[in-house]
Amino acid sequence: QPREASARPGRPSERTRPVRVGGVTVGGGAPVAVQSMLNAPADDVAENLAQIDRLAEAGCEIVRMAIPRRDCLDAFEAVCAASPLPVVADIHFDPLIAIEAARRGAAKLRINPGNIGGLDAAVPVLEAARQAGIPIRIGVNAGSLDAGLAARDDLTLPEKLAQSAVDYVRFCEGQGFADLVVSAKAHDVMTTVRTYRLLAAQLPHVPLHIGVTEAGTAFQGVIKSAAGLGILLEEGIGDTLRISLTDDPVQEIRACWTLLSALDLRRRNPELISCPTCGRCQVNLIELARQVEERISTLNKPLKVAVMGCVVNGPGEARDADIGVACGNGSGIVFSQGKTVRKVSEEAIVDALMEEIGTL
Ligand code: SF4
Repeated sequence: QPREASARPGRPSERTRPVRVGGVTVGGGAPVAVQSMLNAPADDVAENLAQIDRLAEAGCEIVRMAIPRRDCLDAFEAVCAASPLPVVADIHFDPLIAIEAARRGAAKLRINPGNIGGLDAAVPVLEAARQAGIPIRIGVNAGSLDAGLAARDDLTLPEKLAQSAVDYVRFCEGQGFADLVVSAKAHDVMTTVRTYRLLAAQLPHVPLHIGVTEAGTAFQGVIKSAAGLGILLEEGIGDTLRISLTDDPVQEIRACWTLLSALDLRRRNPELISCPTCGRCQVNLIELARQVEERISTLNKPLKVAVMGCVVNGPGEARDADIGVACGNGSGIVFSQGKTVRKVSEEAIVDALMEEIGTL
């Protein structure tokens, strides 16, 4: 069953407990937080900090860093100390790394019940997080599911994934530690959706980190993530999201914001409205739209910018947008806030649009 907790469909549930990740609140009705994961070498402080700066500029709010070995802890500590964003420590296999990361500046720990060494291994990790005053994400993944649950043939994959997370949450809460976020990801979209619906029903109080894992390269990954996460977010499920792409993590952040904007949940960047072109078009609209998209991608203004191919729908869309152009034969009429402001040649359209955007 979808979480019926959200009084406003499509909004994050207010019934989840708010969890603080550095200066960012996740859950409790807070805006859906945008996050990504660093992919620079884990022992390279300068590279990771440079990537964090690029991610922060793109609108990332929480960043995660892998700590694959104990000898990477010094680099992790240095990154945490200099990072403008809260840094989540991502740990597999070795609970001692999690304990040490909590002491060295992690804003949150991410551990995987399937490989961290069983419930007993979690006890000192919970204690370290408690002492550091930081939350833990219990991050279940279909590729590393607990062996006992994976072997059960009486449960579907979504049921196994959800059960793994629920068992771990119950254990942590039984230990008096409730500062938790949960994720349970699969590469299959509908498995992911069904899993999160189960989690939302069984753990209505726990904030959920949603994502389709190993979603692929940018084209497929964005479509799979938007399909799965769009369904969940519209049901009020999801307090923070990551769109996992085999690409530059900055593209993950652009995808997250585009999705949140499309769902009318949060807006940060301009939205491009451009027609698909047809035989009526008498400019190179595809190239024009690409150039405009590139130029507006770094703007931190939630404007609507229309780039339209002809007079059929062009003037209407261009007038309705904040800034727009309706093209004709080798030229375009530029609109600003619904009014015609100038007519320019095809070569001058992009600069004219950017100038008009600059005046708003
Ligand atoms: Fe074709 Fe004009 Fe519509 Fe663009 S706006 S798709 S050029 S009819």
